[in-house]
Amino acid sequence: MRRPLVIGNWKMNGSRQDNKSLLEELVFLKPTNIQTELVICAPFLYIEQVSRHLVEQQISFGAQDMSVHLNGAYTGEISASMLIDLGCRYVIVGHSERRQYHGESNLLVAQKTLASLQAGLIPIICVGETLEQRESAGTLDVIADQLAAVKTVVGDSGISRSVIAYEPVWAIGTGLSATPDQAQDVHRFIRGQLGATGGNVRLLYGGSVKSDNAAGLFEQPDIDGALVGGASLVAREFIKIALAAA
Ligand code: PEP
Repeated sequence: MRRPLVIGNWKMNGSRQDNKSLLEELVFLKPTNIQTELVICAPFLYIEQVSRHLVEQQISFGAQDMSVHLNGAYTGEISASMLIDLGCRYVIVGHSERRQYHGESNLLVAQKTLASLQAGLIPIICVGETLEQRESAGTLDVIADQLAAVKTVVGDSGISRSVIAYEPVWAIGTGLSATPDQAQDVHRFIRGQLGATGGNVRLLYGGSVKSDNAAGLFEQPDIDGALVGGASLVAREFIKIALAAA
């Protein structure tokens, strides 16, 4: 049985004041003992603030990226052990915005996945195709390559300790969500690629998930939750999505 999981990716949004209101509202609105596991991935600077609000509130937290290096002369970078030090449980790796704007390759994403696992974090590994790739029938090849790179580096046991998020690039922040059938087709494919332990791995969908399209996505047999960007900045929306997954 895979526990539903809904993760908020705040991206580069927030301020101490806005975060305080959002976190207080989240804690207020979250039903006690909600079946869905909830996670907030905040900008690095705000993780400590998030932790102060969420510790003992049955909401985990994490980061949106991390360095592939353990420590040392890497100005501006944040290591996995620093995230552990702050109480993070999760870290997003290979978000399409990192791949697109920071040139992160499949190999680098795989190495970050390994570094996160070795530090004791749960990686949320993002995969997904661009519109151009989908239109040229390349979706499954792109995803197979992204997954194969990670599998080669972390093996089946690493994959079994990870979460995978299918995020079609054309659906992120565009308001254009994949239909439940489109998403399920890719999720089924991903599960098939994961091998023997794939049945236990939680597969999230991400891309313009909102309270009004969440239920249809979560009805699909291989969709175990969502990675939510824009809608995670509105507490009521985020909690409605979490309830739809329960
Ligand atoms: C994301 O940031 O991973 C994402 C899916 O964003 P949005 O929900 O805004 O499309």
